Amino acid sequence: MVEIKTDMALEAMREAGRVVANALAAARAAAAVGTRLRELDAAARAVLDDAGARSPFLGYRPSFAPTPFPGVICASVNDAVAHGIPDDYRLRDGDLVSVDCGAELDGWTGDAAISFTVGTPRPADLELIAATQRALDAGIAAATVGHRVGDISHAIDAVAREAACGMPSDFGGHGIGRHMHEDPHVPNRGRPGRGFPLRHGLALAIEPMLMAGGRDKYRTDVDGWTLRTTDGSRAAHIEHTIAVTEEGPRVLTLP
Ligand code: MG
Ligand code: MG
Repeated sequence: MVEIKTDMALEAMREAGRVVANALAAARAAAAVGTRLRELDAAARAVLDDAGARSPFLGYRPSFAPTPFPGVICASVNDAVAHGIPDDYRLRDGDLVSVDCGAELDGWTGDAAISFTVGTPRPADLELIAATQRALDAGIAAATVGHRVGDISHAIDAVAREAACGMPSDFGGHGIGRHMHEDPHVPNRGRPGRGFPLRHGLALAIEPMLMAGGRDKYRTDVDGWTLRTTDGSRAAHIEHTIAVTEEGPRVLTLP
């Protein structure tokens, strides 16, 4: 079932989104050559705690997962696409990191992700991050009243294709509100003019995941969580929670 949010609910989601943005900024600020992923998690956790927010990631256990998720962020490095566990791995010069974070505040949820490099960046990684950002921007721009979910999916896919990047087609965006994952599903590939109609008050997490190797294949790591490219190529993942409004798409996960 899809819940259309009231304007008051969207205001509350904006506050949850602010916490997410601040937590991501703290995780990014903590990231440097030699930093452990666990320290990025601790930095994000401190922001959530200060705001009195709950993590929808911590202890999360979807059907595919063998264990409850142990962090408040997902930290996915290099060939990891998403769902990476913030463990004792120490960041190295030139690593590409994607950090995904959620927060629940006063019963409403925000979800966002960023990708960035540590130390001296590889030019190809910067291009991949820029393409993923363009895909997200295109998806958000398509999230207007009168469009359908397929218009968002198609806009994301068009950028991925132009950048010759692959995408893990089983994973994509989602409705969001009282829970992190709500209907409708927002695939990163689809046909324009098809799918759920976009109305004022619909809140969506839009999250392209681009894989530089150009193939759609991925595998799940032995940890049961981390999604990795099968060809070893690098991946980027950028996400915002947005609201469809009569005034246009409103990004909720900003500082
Ligand atoms: Mg997310
Ligand atoms: Mg999400």
